[in-house]
Amino acid sequence: MGSIETHYCRNCGKEFLTRDKNLEFCNLGCKQKYFETTEDRLRERTCLHCEKVFKPKYVHQKYCCIECSYMHQKVYREMAKNIIMKRRQINESNNPKYLEWKNEIFQRTNTQS
Ligand SMILES: [Zn+2]
Ligand SMILES: [Zn+2]
Repeated sequence: MGSIETHYCRNCGKEFLTRDKNLEFCNLGCKQKYFETTEDRLRERTCLHCEKVFKPKYVHQKYCCIECSYMHQKVYREMAKNIIMKRRQINESNNPKYLEWKNEIFQRTNTQS
């Protein structure tokens, strides 16, 4: 028999003592939970770009393939750029709609207090 060693549970991080060198969990519940959540994270999901159902290889995988990831991010970037451009245009010009909106917000905060 080996000596008693301190191990750290891979699920909850708790310190526990064991003689078993290969023991990685403080109890069976923790072991089950760890593998359940790992499997759960790698469960089939829908591609954010083409909406195809796929089995991910990584926990944080959002797209079925590299092409989808690339295309989606490109589209998203364009969208974000357009929103920022539009905001800037509204801010810079004395757009009556923007002034109207500003007045409305101002009045709203005024009447609230
Ligand atoms: Zn544990
Ligand atoms: Zn896809």
